[in-house]
Amino acid sequence: MELANRVKTLTPSSTLAITAKAKELKNEGHDVIGLAAGEPDFNTPQFIIDAANEAMQNGFTKYTPSGGIPKLKEAIAAKFKQDNDLSYSSDEIIVTTGAKHALYTLFQVLLNAGDEVIVPAPYWVSYPEQVKLAGGKPVVVEADEANNFKITPEQLENSISNRTKAVIINSPSNPTGMMYSKDELEKIGQICLKHNILIVSDEIYEKLIYTVDQHVSIASISEQLKEHTIVVNGVSKSHSMTGWRIGYAAGPQKIIKAMTSLASQSTSNPTSIAQYAALAAYCSKEDAGDEMRNTFSERLDTLYELLNDIPGVSCQKPKGAFYLFPNVKEAVKKNGFDSTDDWVKALLEEEKVALVPGSGFGFPDNVRLSYAISIDLLNEAAARIKRFVINHQS
Ligand code: PMP
Ligand code: GLU
Repeated sequence: MELANRVKTLTPSSTLAITAKAKELKNEGHDVIGLAAGEPDFNTPQFIIDAANEAMQNGFTKYTPSGGIPKLKEAIAAKFKQDNDLSYSSDEIIVTTGAKHALYTLFQVLLNAGDEVIVPAPYWVSYPEQVKLAGGKPVVVEADEANNFKITPEQLENSISNRTKAVIINSPSNPTGMMYSKDELEKIGQICLKHNILIVSDEIYEKLIYTVDQHVSIASISEQLKEHTIVVNGVSKSHSMTGWRIGYAAGPQKIIKAMTSLASQSTSNPTSIAQYAALAAYCSKEDAGDEMRNTFSERLDTLYELLNDIPGVSCQKPKGAFYLFPNVKEAVKKNGFDSTDDWVKALLEEEKVALVPGSGFGFPDNVRLSYAISIDLLNEAAARIKRFVINHQS
């Protein structure tokens, strides 16, 4: 049986694939250190787990409205008001099966064949694939590493054509951890308004910031920009709830309505119990994130220093998320490898350290390291990478 054309060119998520491979090797008894995982290594807070248990006991185990239970939408609206000074009504919000599915659904309802979406690189692995799955064309715009991996307003404007429908902004970014300032977002926003382009603002790492810089949602800059923006967010990273699969999108009612119709024909609804868990996460006075943020911040400082001490590896200091995205071009060359992918493969085979090669993020000279593991393991991983680089020095 021949498969549909749309999956013939589909690349599976490299982040998930490498994480799975590292786990498999570990289960086989290999001493693998996984720096590939795109999820916090903290348990979901107990009060959230208790809320899910209670929901089950109370019989909330049935279908819910496709776009999410009203109470959760209200809680998400309150979160937007409090954190981002954004006012959304319930019909401007959809709860989805993870933020990934919010993005997937959005591109499905937005794009006709050949419509273009500007994807700044380095990008999160799923953006170009999701655009292609919706029949669209990802237009990759390479940011300059020297500009902290951020695209400039000029680059954005130069990549716009009469088929451009949207641009994706992910701040703080996966894989670089970099953030756009309010000023930068204003300039990007002006260009989007001028050319009538929708902004897809992926704010999933909003709560994981380790500097004094404030996260700014581009939608909050002006009422006009709000009307041109879909904000995507979720509880996966903020509350260490990756497996619960609750994300959401907020934006113009017409788009949200179409996304909700599509959800009614695809997922039916996000898992009822997980919605009640997310409701508890947003209604609680407890800040689930402080301990996690402090721990991540400490690990970032440690790993950043260690990486910059490795010959041929240079690293910028991220402001958020839980990744470092060093340039390893010189090390790859000096170590005698043809590509970063080969270097990463050999590192896993020889030193049992799993990283994600930058190729999946549209930046093949770099690698992504996640610091969602203990400081001891980060120290050990950096020592192994250094040994690998020195052993292969030609
Ligand atoms: N956007 C980015 C940038 C991410 O890193 C992730 C994490 N996988 C997602 C969206 C999707 O998150 P979720 O687990 O809610 O689907
Ligand atoms: N966002 C995470 C990552 O980039 C999870 C994996 C995925 O969803 O692809 O690793």
